[in-house]
Amino acid sequence: MLSAKAKRELAVLSGYKCSFPGCEQNLMLDGASFIGQLASIEAVHSHGPRHNPSKNETSLLEIDNYLLLCPNHHVIVDRQPEIYSAEWLKKAREDHLKNISGIISSSKEFAEVKLDDEVEISLEQALGVWRNNSENPSEEVWQNLLKKCPSVLSQVFPQSMFQLGSKCYVGGKSISNSGGNLVDFIYASKLTGNIVLVEIKTPKTKLLGKKYRGNAYSISEELSGSFVQVLNYKDQLIKEYYKLSHNDGSDTFSAFNPKCLVIAGTLESELQEATQYKSFELFRNSTTNVEILTYDELFQKTQDILDMVK
Ligand SMILES: [Zn+2]
Repeated sequence: MLSAKAKRELAVLSGYKCSFPGCEQNLMLDGASFIGQLASIEAVHSHGPRHNPSKNETSLLEIDNYLLLCPNHHVIVDRQPEIYSAEWLKKAREDHLKNISGIISSSKEFAEVKLDDEVEISLEQALGVWRNNSENPSEEVWQNLLKKCPSVLSQVFPQSMFQLGSKCYVGGKSISNSGGNLVDFIYASKLTGNIVLVEIKTPKTKLLGKKYRGNAYSISEELSGSFVQVLNYKDQLIKEYYKLSHNDGSDTFSAFNPKCLVIAGTLESELQEATQYKSFELFRNSTTNVEILTYDELFQKTQDILDMVK
C-alpha cells in the first residue's frame, strides 16, 4: 500500500480531481467524503493490470506509480489495460498534474531544485526583479516571481522545504464543483511531509491602519483579512485531509498541522516612526499560528544568502 502521506500529497497535487483526460470530476464532495481512488499504473501484484515483473515492489510503491481517478475511471482503466497501458496512464497523470500545479510535472522533480529548468530563475534574478518592481501593486507579478524562484520562500523556513505547488486547491468547493479556495503556495518539508500554507499580498499592502489613542496603531484591514483567510484555508485543508486519511484507517494524520505564512507590505515604506514599528511587532509576535513577513525582509534574506555564498 502507498503510504498515507504519499496519498495526501498526490490528492493535493491532483487538485482532488480525476486525472482521466476530460473527466475533471471533483473527488471531494461538499461536506461529505473523499471518493477518489489511487490507481496503480503498474500493479504491485503479479495478477494485477499492467504488472511489470522487471520492477521490484519498492519501486512500485513510489508515488509516481499512482494516479488519482474517480471510481468509474478506475474500473475502466483496470479492465482494459491493453487500451490504457502504463505509458498511457503515465501521460494522463503527467498532463493532469501539470494542469493542476501549472508548474512541474512529477513529484520527484518537486524535490530537486532544478536550476537549469527554464521555468525557474535564479535568486540573483529574483532579487533584480524585486529591486526594479518594489512598487508594483499587482499580486500576479509577485505570484509569478515566487513561483519561478521557489527558493526565495524556501530559504525563510528553518526546515528544508520545497514548493509543492502554487495556487493549490485547499477545499471549499460546492457539490456542483464551483467555487473552492486556492492558497497561493504550499511548501512541504522534505523530511516530515508537513506543510506550510503561504498567502501573499503585495509590497504595497498596508500593514497598519489608524492611529489608536495616540500611542499605538491598529492593524490594517488588508493584513488582518489575509490573516483570517489563511487560517480558513488551514482549517479547510485539515478537514479534507482528515477525511482523506480517515478513509484508509491510518493514524498518520495526528502529525499533520500545517503552518501559515503571510507575505505583505514593506517595513521601510510604511513604518516610519517607532510607535508604528512597535505596534506591528507586537501584533506579529502575538500570532502563534500565522507568521508574517514583509517583502523587504523576504528579499533581505535572499540578499543575505547570496552574500554568504560569494
Ligand atoms: Zn474520472
